[in-house]
Formats: sequence, structure tokens, C-alpha cells
Amino acid sequence: MQTSFGTGQANRESTDLAFTDPLTGLGNHRRFFDKVDRLISDRADDPAPFTVGILDLDGFKPINDLFGHKAGDDILIQVAMRLRASMDGHSTVCRIGADEFAYLYPMVFSEEAAAEKSRMLIEILSAPYDVGERTARLSASVGCSLFYSGDETTEILINKAETALYHAKRSGRGRVVVYTREMEEAAKRVTRIEQALRRAVSAGEVEPHFQPIVDLNTRRTIGFETLARWTDRDLGSVPPTVFIPIAEERGIIGPLSQLVLRKATEAARIWPKELFLSFNLSPSQLVDQNTGLHILAILERTGFDPRRLEIEITETGLMNDPASAEKIVEDLRRVGIRVSLDDFGTGQSSLGRLREFHFDKLKIDRAFVSSILDDRPSEHIIRAILAMCEGLGMDVVAEGIEQEAQADRLVQFGCAGGQGYLFGKPVDADATLGYLRDSFRGALRAKAV
Ligand code: C2E
Ligand code: MG
Ligand code: MG
Repeated sequence: MQTSFGTGQANRESTDLAFTDPLTGLGNHRRFFDKVDRLISDRADDPAPFTVGILDLDGFKPINDLFGHKAGDDILIQVAMRLRASMDGHSTVCRIGADEFAYLYPMVFSEEAAAEKSRMLIEILSAPYDVGERTARLSASVGCSLFYSGDETTEILINKAETALYHAKRSGRGRVVVYTREMEEAAKRVTRIEQALRRAVSAGEVEPHFQPIVDLNTRRTIGFETLARWTDRDLGSVPPTVFIPIAEERGIIGPLSQLVLRKATEAARIWPKELFLSFNLSPSQLVDQNTGLHILAILERTGFDPRRLEIEITETGLMNDPASAEKIVEDLRRVGIRVSLDDFGTGQSSLGRLREFHFDKLKIDRAFVSSILDDRPSEHIIRAILAMCEGLGMDVVAEGIEQEAQADRLVQFGCAGGQGYLFGKPVDADATLGYLRDSFRGALRAKAV
């Protein structure tokens, strides 16, 4: 009797432990799945919907790195306390991943109410956290899904909330997204593109195209920007604004980039020596310390002079992990590769960054150039950027020039470099060679013999 009682308690304790997150004392993913399973069977004969939400902390990793793991754990405990305190008697919250929490609202029946309640949770989590003597702030993103009919399983419901969370994260921090059917279609399309792209990269089917960059005063070509192009057998031509973000998210950007750089440097080797080649690096490549080594290995293999290569990076690329980006850029600069700041003026432009980080060149975003003729603020911003570049000793290229009048105005303001459809659209290696034959006759002939 005694023994069997003891065993029963031990069993219950071990079952409890198996369903509990030891750090926060909340239920874990098993408890969550179990709760949703039960609610689904309770609702078998009851048409009332209910809500599942998944909440992910934004920027928790940098906080962990900055304040240390002990502080990270303290923050997670405080987050758990706040979430638990905000649940009513019917609702449940569990910790289902490192910085991921899930909640179940059995009495939330509509998408509007689900979004409203979730926004409240984000609000509650946004108040400062005590970390020893200091305080830290956090935001969170949420994806929700609603159970409607008897044919959904726990897994499907949670997957839908994860899909909505993915959309919330993509659209910025601190957002709530409720799952819709279109999201599923979009997710399927992304997966199709990802699979086709993986195949294309291993088959070497992504091609570099080249767009001329000119000296605005003489109109002579001074270099080319490499722009990746991909045409799939089934999907047709997929623009880089679609496939580059997918390549980044799904971890294909490294091999894709190496393929394009290898082909581009092979093509550019026979161009006149004075022409540079510029190449875009994605933000995720600036947190990967192998990026520099891969670039140098490709230059070595193709025999392309590093002093003719420029890399274009955006400010977003520097923000994720500035120390890592700086190290990669320093390694590249040591062998003579130049560094441009791309798309300047959009996104998270910070003048402070221009002081800390040395760029050889700045590219003014097309948004300013396209409105230069009819928008006074754009004109003033461009003039200010030009004055700043002169002071900091940086070259400048204005992007997206389509009209003569825009080029004239830029020259008048003292902008030295330009790029845009007015001077040439991006074209493949053969067409680029044809273009160079016309404009650099002597230099190419000398190379050919
Ligand atoms: P970006 O680096 O800012 O490249 C300039 C974009 O503006 C290119 O778009 C180019 O075709 C377009 N453009 C140039 N002149 C004009 C113009 O006069 N008018 C208009 N409307 N557009 C013009 P594209 O080729 O679609 O590339 C889009 C973005 O995709 C690039 O923006 C770059 O961020 C990214 N990308 C392209 N190729 C690569 C690559 O190999 N690696 C990485 N990481 N990103 C790439
Ligand atoms: Mg660029
Ligand atoms: Mg650009």
C-alpha cells in the first residue's frame, strides 16, 4: 500500500516534470499540445471557435549576448510571469521554445478579438525589465490562428499560427498577424521558389547581368554593377527582389552569391582594366565570417584583381551584427576591395554609422533621384548628401537615373557618378561585351591579341 502510494506520487511528479518548463514553471510544448488536443475534442459537438497564439520575443538573442545568459534567463522568467498574470481562468500560456511562448484562448471567438488580446500581451511585455542594476526592453511578435470546424488537428492549428508568426516577423517588430488562407498560398509559393532555386544554384543556372555605372560629366562607363538573374523552366523569370530575400531566409544566399561572383569575375576579366566590378552582399552574408574567405578564394581562382572589385552593402547589413560586418569588411579592404554603401537614404540611415564605418563610395537611392525634378525636399537631401560625401572623402553614385533632365540636375549639383536606364539596363555577359566593343574599341582589341 505504502509502496504503491509512493510510486503513484513519483509517477505524477515525473509526468508533471515532463509537461513543465523547468526555467519558468510554465507548461512546456507537450502541455500545450495536450491542452489544445483536449479542447478540440471538447469542441467536437460545439461550433464555437477558439484561438491559439504563438508569441516570439524580438531581439532576444542580442540581449542574451549583451547581458549574459543569467540575465537572459531572468528576463524569460519575468516574461513568463507577466504572461501568466495576464491570462484569465480559462486561458493557458506555455513556453514552447527558447524565446517562444504559446497561448490558448478558449473564449476568443473572432479574428478581431484575437488580434486585440494579442496586442495587449505585446504591450504588457514592452515595459522595461530589471537586469541587475540595468534595465532592458523587448518587443514581441505574434501569430494567431482560429479553430473553426471539427476537421482541424492541433498540429495544423499550430502550424497556421507559426505561418502567421513568420509573416508578423517579416513585416517588422511588435506585430500581430492572424492566419489567413492567402498566407498558406504565399507560403507554398515561397517553398516552390526555394526548391527551384536550390536546384538552379547547384546546376549553375543563376546568371550575372551587368549595368553600367558612368562618369556623369563625360558619360564614360567607369564600371558595372553585377545583378543576379534567374529564369526557371516552370516559374519563368523570377525577379531578384523575390528570390534574393528567399535565398537569404532559406540559407541559399552563400552558394548563390559565390556562383554569381564566380561567373561575373570570369566575364569581367577580359574587360578593360580600368573598369571596376561591383557586387551586392546581403545582410546575412555580413554575419557569416566565411564570406570574406569565399570571396578571396573566388578572386584567386578566376585571377580577378581585387582592386577592381567593389562590394555594395546596405545599412541593414551593418545593423544585425556591426562587429562581424566590420571584421569581414576589414579583411576584404586589406586586399584592396572597395566598399560602397548601397541604397542610401532609405531604411535605417544613420549618420553616426558613416562616422564609425569607412565607406569608399555612397549610392544615393533611386527614390530621391526619381523625384529630383519635382520635389524640393529630394533636391535638398541630394545636395546635402553630396556635400557630406565631399567632406568625408567618399565617391558618389546616383542610382536610377532615367531622364536627361535628372542627369543634368545631378551634374549641376556636383554629383560625379550615375547609374540608371538612361545609360543602360542590366544585360548579360555577351551583351556587355558587345557594349564594351563599341565604347572601348582599343582596349578590348589589345586584350584580344
Ligand atoms: P540594388 O543593388 O539597389 O540594384 C539596383 C536595382 O535598381 C536593380 O534592380 C536595377 O535593375 C534597378 N535599376 C537600375 N537602374 C534603374 C532605373 O533607371 N530605373 C529603375 N526603375 N530601376 C533601375 P534589380 O536587378 O531588380 O535588383 C534588385 C535588388 O536585388 C538589388 O538592388 C540588390 O539589392 C538585389 N540583388 C540583385 N542581385 C543581387 C546579388 O547578386 N546578390 C545580392 N545579395 N543581392 C542582389
Ligand atoms: Mg546594389
Ligand atoms: Mg541600390
